Amino acid sequence: MKFGGTSVGDVAAFERVFHIVSRQIERRPVVVVSAMTKVTDALLAAFETAKKGDFAAAYTSLEPHFDRHVEVSRHFIAEESGKTFDTELQLAREELSDLLTRTSRRSLPLSMLKDAIVSYGEQLSSRLLAEVLKANGIAARQVDSRRLIVTDDEFGAAQPIWEETAELVRLELEPAIAAGEVPIMGGFIAANRAGETTTLGRGGSDYSAALVAAALQASELQIWTDVTGVMTCDPRICGEARTIPVLSYEEAAELAYFGAKVLHPKTIKPAVDHSIPVRVCNTFEPNEIGTMVLGDSAEAPNKIKSIAHKKNITILRITSARMLGSYGFMSALFQVFERYRTVIDVISTSEVSVALTLDNTAELDKIVTELGRLGDVEVEPGYGVVCVVGEGLRASTGLASKVFSTIDDVNIALVSHGASSVNLTFVVKEEVVADVIKRLHQALFKKD
Ligand code: ADP
Ligand code: ASP
Ligand code: MG
Repeated sequence: MKFGGTSVGDVAAFERVFHIVSRQIERRPVVVVSAMTKVTDALLAAFETAKKGDFAAAYTSLEPHFDRHVEVSRHFIAEESGKTFDTELQLAREELSDLLTRTSRRSLPLSMLKDAIVSYGEQLSSRLLAEVLKANGIAARQVDSRRLIVTDDEFGAAQPIWEETAELVRLELEPAIAAGEVPIMGGFIAANRAGETTTLGRGGSDYSAALVAAALQASELQIWTDVTGVMTCDPRICGEARTIPVLSYEEAAELAYFGAKVLHPKTIKPAVDHSIPVRVCNTFEPNEIGTMVLGDSAEAPNKIKSIAHKKNITILRITSARMLGSYGFMSALFQVFERYRTVIDVISTSEVSVALTLDNTAELDKIVTELGRLGDVEVEPGYGVVCVVGEGLRASTGLASKVFSTIDDVNIALVSHGASSVNLTFVVKEEVVADVIKRLHQALFKKD
């Protein structure tokens, strides 16, 4: 059972989590929890402030978030037994103060310090949740994820080392579960082989949960969030969004990749590999069924499942006569992105040009300089990717024309279809994304 940040935002949220866990206690759950909502952002912002040299401001900015933890602890945990959490919090404050000082002095590699700092969100939320559950009579035990999830050294986006992780998870958790305990782990955080804290990337708690579920051959992975499952589009964009009862793994992966952040893309992988059904449920409406993600959704053709989107996209266009009839050009092009560890989202090619999109522009300047050796490069920021997903796109005719005729007055900068037959992806100006989604939703999901 994985609980996201909004599911552990305040006293009322912790109360809900307690009820949800206790109702399934017979199923012997393992709980993976995210940082309390907004805490990860706050820790990242504190790191940035400290980096600029303002250690004091960085530390002070965290005070309101420490207070939120204290408030939950005061509410649920009796004075005497509350000591465990108080001690933990005090320790976290001291360690964070030290880490932020080091950041302002740059006395350790910054990427390493950043992960160490940001890990306190999940370190604290998992400790707090364990204490809250214990105070309510559940045999909860906090387990430090950094001892179980082993990763490479890629701070900020570390890759788990599966065999070692699976073995440690089993070794540590199986006896605890057998003894009737409910292990409580922080998501997102892990450690490399040297024992240094790493993180799995934003939204990575889903990934942690999937790894644990796979290692334990769980009967089900439940992702508890603030919406009722995966919906036909982001409910924040369009009020008409509806819950999708069943999704195939492939559809879920495409959706997640293109911005439906309700499920982290990597969550899919360990679950698929181990045939574990994933269920996305709503902490605020625990009786609603939500979405099941299964190996094969066996849907009728013609079905469009959902519309995902991602904003803040930059288009790069590379034009080169050298491309014409020659091989090796694409390989040279991709090597540039590989060198700067930058993921390409959408790509489309013609005889003499390649257009592609990026959402991570941290290394953009260097990439553009290197691509300049291959051809003329144009950079166009301010776009959004819209991605229509559904197994129905595989077989049926007329769907693409329906999509494009619905928005025939919108300028489309790039289109990609066919690589995965379950998605139709296109790129439009950022400011029209919301409108495009509303209109497509209206056209594709009209109640029959
Ligand atoms: P958590 O903190 O539980 O991990 P996230 O914020 O990562 O939650 O994901 C849930 C959010 O994802 C929802 O509040 C919703 O706004 C957004 N979202 C985007 N696309 C979709 C979609 N297709 N279906 C459901 N939620 C979506
Ligand atoms: N707390 C982390 C984040 O906000 C991980 C997660 O919530 O999944 O990215
Ligand atoms: Mg999430």
